[in-house]
Amino acid sequence: METIDSKQNINRESLLEERRKKLAKWKQKKAQFDAQKENQTSRNNIVTNSLGAQRTADKFTERQEQVKEKLRKRKNEFGKPDERMSVKPSKKKSKRNKVREKISFDFSDDDDAKIGHAFRSKEHLQKVAEHDDEKDPLDEFMTSLKEGEVSTIKSTYDRGDILDVEDQLVALEGADDENVEDNTDSSNIAKIAKLKAKKRVKQIYYSPEELEPFQKNFYIESETISSMTEVEVEELRLSLDNIKIKGTGCPKPVTKWSQLGLSTDTMILITEKLRFGSLTPIQSQALPAIMSGRDVIGISKTGSGKTISYLLPLLRQVKAQRPLSKHETGPMGLVLAPTRELALQIHEEVTKFTGADASIRSVCCTGGSEMKKQITELKRGAEIVVATPGRFIDLLTLNDGKLLSTKRITFVIMDEADRLFDLGFEPQITQIMKTVRPDKQCVLFSATFPNKLRSFAVRVLQSPISITINSKGLVNENVKQKFKICHSEDEKFDNLLQLIHGRSEFVDEVQTEVDGESSDVEEVDAKAIIFVSSQQICDFISKKLLNAGIATCTIHAGKPYQERLMNLEKFKREKNSILLCTEVLSRGLNVPEVSVVIIYNAVKTFAQYVHTTGRTARGSRSGTAITLLLHDELSGAYILSKSMRDDELKASDPLQVKELHEMSGKFEFGMKKGKFRLSQGFGGKGLENIKSKREEAQNTDLELEKGDKKSDELEKKNNNLRAEHDNEPESSALIPKLKYELFKEPTTDGTLIFYAKVHINDLPQIVRWEATKNTTLLFIKHETGCSITNKGKFYPEGKEPKNETDEPKLYLLIEGQDEKDIQLSIELLEQKVKEGVIKAASLSLKSTKY
Ligand code: ADP
Ligand code: MG
Repeated sequence: METIDSKQNINRESLLEERRKKLAKWKQKKAQFDAQKENQTSRNNIVTNSLGAQRTADKFTERQEQVKEKLRKRKNEFGKPDERMSVKPSKKKSKRNKVREKISFDFSDDDDAKIGHAFRSKEHLQKVAEHDDEKDPLDEFMTSLKEGEVSTIKSTYDRGDILDVEDQLVALEGADDENVEDNTDSSNIAKIAKLKAKKRVKQIYYSPEELEPFQKNFYIESETISSMTEVEVEELRLSLDNIKIKGTGCPKPVTKWSQLGLSTDTMILITEKLRFGSLTPIQSQALPAIMSGRDVIGISKTGSGKTISYLLPLLRQVKAQRPLSKHETGPMGLVLAPTRELALQIHEEVTKFTGADASIRSVCCTGGSEMKKQITELKRGAEIVVATPGRFIDLLTLNDGKLLSTKRITFVIMDEADRLFDLGFEPQITQIMKTVRPDKQCVLFSATFPNKLRSFAVRVLQSPISITINSKGLVNENVKQKFKICHSEDEKFDNLLQLIHGRSEFVDEVQTEVDGESSDVEEVDAKAIIFVSSQQICDFISKKLLNAGIATCTIHAGKPYQERLMNLEKFKREKNSILLCTEVLSRGLNVPEVSVVIIYNAVKTFAQYVHTTGRTARGSRSGTAITLLLHDELSGAYILSKSMRDDELKASDPLQVKELHEMSGKFEFGMKKGKFRLSQGFGGKGLENIKSKREEAQNTDLELEKGDKKSDELEKKNNNLRAEHDNEPESSALIPKLKYELFKEPTTDGTLIFYAKVHINDLPQIVRWEATKNTTLLFIKHETGCSITNKGKFYPEGKEPKNETDEPKLYLLIEGQDEKDIQLSIELLEQKVKEGVIKAASLSLKSTKY
């Protein structure tokens, strides 16, 4: 015992001697520092004058005070220094110093560039305190900091780098690094630079063999979803607050929780405990997209249910992974959020979904006072970390990255990404991303999508799908939507007459002002368009209106092209004119003076509604769209109730609104029961494309005709259009090109008649079936006004008609008065065939799979 004691005494003596020397050296350095500080104060004061800087300075001072207080408390707790030193074996020192050298935020061992006060371990600070008999050097130093140095520090710091002294102390504590040397920094700038360096995370390069495989894709499309055609999907997206997709290969939106393959527990939680009836639009689209393993950008307004959109796929992926081993801390999933409150909220949501499941532990890591607790929890292992970026970097850099490894991270979520950027977290996130394996799944959610966020997303996400929910609604904001429910055709027609007579009321005020200024009010052009659903109704209403003394310009596909053109010109030219037309004209028509659109037959699809209402309020003008709805037109009511804005409903007759909601409710109920569905319309993107390009081509045609030139260019455009259409990936493999011949013949009265023979005999059976289906033919007839008939007979492979008298091989005869109508018919036929084939193919794929 004696020997040990005396040995310890000698040790103690030499250690104390060493420390005294170091302290003297430190004091000397500090004196130098103080002198330097004097010089800098005047410069710094300039910076301190700004309000923001003052706040940061105050914050910093407050922090220093807290640290001081904490250190004082610790001083009391720790007992005498020699007691402490005697317990610590000296050989540990060299080992620890080694560790320090490895720590990524370590400072150089060079005497002139040693660590400053704020970063010393508590033991060290205490030692300094106890070896100075008169003054507490820490107090002294802190006082000096308060007076002058602060402004230098804060003025050089980025927001995300604001020094969290307390955290630093705990961090050092965590690193168990006792022997921080007694050195002061000669310059503040160097100190700050080092602080910054401290926060730098090392980029990690993963070799392929290091990357443990993991599953990203869990989504199996349900049969109901698979059987939806492109047009139906488009329609569904429109009905779900106008979901807009960018990027390739986005799965179709889902409409029920049961279509996501969720576990029974999760299903019970969502449908029974939380009572979430249906999915919100962002959930409908983002859930299948993320669950299929894609990187996703989800933009949707606040409160639209974004959290669950990423949480369910996250939990699923984490659960499917190899569990954390004893030596792994995790996490597998990292959620980055801009603020403490938000991170906590997300963490709570995670725990709501994990419930009693001990295999998914979530830790919330945000700046503030809880770091010690966070460290303890992380050491136990956490599958999910919800963190603010600054704190996550703190944790990553702790103990040379030994506390927390990014190696198992396979899923990164940035929530409220716009705020993350506003708060200047981009550098931190970029650093974090450098440490995560490149094949991770990464999603970003935000309420807005500013440009700088866009360019960041491009850098960080891999071929992402971007999903935007247009919360502003489908219909152009400048279109005022109205409706009137009528209980008979007569009542509807009376309403139409009233609207026509009073159409000048709808004229845009701007137009009234502008036009009215130069001349009298009569000069105001109150144009109106009436949309009806078929050629027959068009002709019928035209006659009825004429009987009532109202002349209209009538256009539908059944009229010759020249007549259509003439009528359109007349409508444009004459003031207060009325255009009566079918839905064929609902796209692309641009007549700025149209102040009111009257939808006489309720539209059947959202797409149709958007396009029809869009014929008014062109450019910066405003306009009105009024639907005259029969009381049994339920789908129309559904579309209206979903499209009309709250203020528009408020401005309507409450009884009518009530009836509209009832009708809409009936339709929705029917849809759920599978009794109703929104009909397919002229809604597909492909079709829209074809139509708008065709319109473009037609316009060119018109100009060419005027200039008396040949229409090669139109031909070229049509060919390009075809080529473009053919490029659609899924179609090329399955659908053979339709072969056809185009003819024109003069009739007895000198006009031309056009017809086409579409050869379908040798096409695959399924294509033949699709092409000759009654619904296909009726649809095309309706849309183009051409007649289509099956001709000839079917000859199986190897058989041919032997002579002239034999019936020809099966073909479709399309007849019309205009070449363009024939071409449109063929395009529509191809589109219909394609949709049918894809649908049939996916069904047969399913039936062989199960
Ligand atoms: P966001 O992140 O888009 O602002 P949240 O994810 O925080 O929105 O969700 C807002 C609220 O809506 C939460 O209270 C959440 O529980 C609730 N919620 C989420 N999804 C649904 C749903 N499908 N049906 C009903 N309520 C939902
Ligand atoms: Mg949110």
